[in-house]
Amino acid sequence: MSVREIEAKTLLRKHRKVDSWFVSQYGMNLYRGCTHNCVYCDGRAEGYYVDGEFGRDIVVKINAIDLLRRELDPKGKRKNPKQGFIMLGGGVGDSYQPVEKKYGLTRQALMVIHNHGFPVHILTKSVLVERDIDLIQRVNDRRRAIVSFSISSIDDEISGIFEPRVPPPSSRLNTLAFFKEKGIACGIFLLPVIPFVTDTHTLIEDVVKKARELGVDFVIFGGMTLKQGRQQDYFLKVLKKHYPQLPPEYAMIYQADKWGQAVSDYYKSISRIFDEVATQYRIPKRIPVSLFHDILDENDLVIVILEQLDYLLRLKGAKSPYGYAAYSISKLKSSISTVKNIRDIKGVGKTTERVIREIIWTGTCAQYEKLLRG
Ligand code: SF4
Repeated sequence: MSVREIEAKTLLRKHRKVDSWFVSQYGMNLYRGCTHNCVYCDGRAEGYYVDGEFGRDIVVKINAIDLLRRELDPKGKRKNPKQGFIMLGGGVGDSYQPVEKKYGLTRQALMVIHNHGFPVHILTKSVLVERDIDLIQRVNDRRRAIVSFSISSIDDEISGIFEPRVPPPSSRLNTLAFFKEKGIACGIFLLPVIPFVTDTHTLIEDVVKKARELGVDFVIFGGMTLKQGRQQDYFLKVLKKHYPQLPPEYAMIYQADKWGQAVSDYYKSISRIFDEVATQYRIPKRIPVSLFHDILDENDLVIVILEQLDYLLRLKGAKSPYGYAAYSISKLKSSISTVKNIRDIKGVGKTTERVIREIIWTGTCAQYEKLLRG
């Protein structure tokens, strides 16, 4: 393993609009590269420009905490950063990968986030996150904290093949139980589901059932992408070794899409399984509004609920008018409740107007609440 220290120019990555998967406005990478070295990791793809050999070489942004302090300062360059969860994790490196034990950047970032009164959403595969329970509780007491784990199945043996350097799913679930006991909201990102390996009804149900038992607040589901080049080459090498019969199946569903997407029929088929199982166990399929209604401003609340509705309807195979409307609202310069005629907003018809007004009045929407668990 090699570690290279750098001075970064900026840290926070502002999303073009509020991200309705994580309900975040900003993400950050304290480390670039990840020694967890998951076989399917798309951080390995050329498009992410991670230096060196992925899984072995790490870049550490040693000035990250000074940058974060400056960038969250309401009088600083960003002038009143937007409210929403600050995302710690995801991107091109786990914030709790082993190098964190030495540098402690994630711990320090939590302190800065707490001092500036922001909520945080942590996504990790490492049980090291337990170390920071004191700070996570403080963030939660002041605003809110969510701790999420990504899990592709609860099978420790399969995880040993595809996630060789992270704690097995059984340990991650124990850590989830630990956070739930401490009163912290928790989620499972059931992704990526590995085609023909972890995409069976049984394995998907195992995760959702476990989530229900632990009182997890939501399960977010996603299929795997496989970009041509380094990501695909590395993945196929491991796949051939452990599942020699599978590469032809992969060739049928990954057909040289620029973004590494599988064919849509495949995603639809696994999404159907997830929808059926999550509905059976009444687990929210997106972050529930009760965890963010008091965090976002009015427009962002409307955008997130509309986008979640859009996802939930499509999951059922229904058409949705809400996605385009959400995008148009993200371009508004003023608060949506001050707009004289909501139907003048592009993509907003009669049905969408009714939903928007319901959200403005009640902070949620009955159709959304029904679909979230149903
Ligand atoms: S933990 Fe996440 S970022 Fe790290 S290698 Fe695995 S998938 Fe990639």
